[in-house]
Amino acid sequence: MNLILLGAPGAGKGTQGKNLSEKFRIPQISTGDILRANVRSKTSLGLKAKEYMDKGALVPDDIVVGMVSDRITQEDCTNGFILDGFPRNINQAEVLKNTLEGMGMKIDHVIGIDVERKELVRRLSGRRVCRKCGASYHVIFNPPVNIGICDSCGSEIYQRDDDKEDTIEARLKVYEQETFPLIEYYTKKDLYRSVNGIGTVDQITKTIVDIIEKGNSNT
Ligand code: ADP
Ligand code: AMP
Repeated sequence: MNLILLGAPGAGKGTQGKNLSEKFRIPQISTGDILRANVRSKTSLGLKAKEYMDKGALVPDDIVVGMVSDRITQEDCTNGFILDGFPRNINQAEVLKNTLEGMGMKIDHVIGIDVERKELVRRLSGRRVCRKCGASYHVIFNPPVNIGICDSCGSEIYQRDDDKEDTIEARLKVYEQETFPLIEYYTKKDLYRSVNGIGTVDQITKTIVDIIEKGNSNT
């Protein structure tokens, strides 16, 4: 099963992607995580991407599209994958469609996680992430047991630079202008289902699983 998780920054794509990856035993592919790993290890791709990420802008399509095309041809994607943070605009969606068609594959479901703007800002500004395993926490909604330490791997937890106030605003604007049109794009293809992103993490996972397994909609 090939799944896309859509939603604004902070909607819970990473959080839900992790649960769905465990449930369906397929990898979660977060373009944000791959880009941040490249920034950390100072690859040429990472150095190029950083200037866009720091501003909250989208990294150019040719960089991101190449990265995803490489990733989905890896062996662990044979039974499917969960795209988290990709596609982010219509061009990326079109390239993805053509790439998958060339491989005899297609997208099966596009799940949009709906969260109002005020809550997105609350979630992004309180988000903390593990430097090593990428586990996501929230200072109020989902704090780690020991402050600053990851529950899963014991590494340091930090605040992403782009989760600071000014960059949050820029990223939400980019979402509205560039990513939001994908809802109509995938609705026309009859692939899109939206879920209410307010509720406990497990409740939302269950709603998504129901949609995937039974075709239930929660719009
Ligand atoms: P995205 O990947 O869409 O940017 P994340 O999954 O990283 O979003 O979630 C953003 C923040 O919101 C994180 O701090 C996470 O712990 C928190 N969060 C995720 N899902 C929920 C939820 N259902 N209720 C409250 N907080 C949540
Ligand atoms: P995320 O972790 O999904 O919030 O992404 C963090 C940042 O990485 C974004 O603000 C963009 O700069 C960049 N990024 C992630 N995914 C994409 C994508 N599909 N296209 C372009 N830029 C991306």
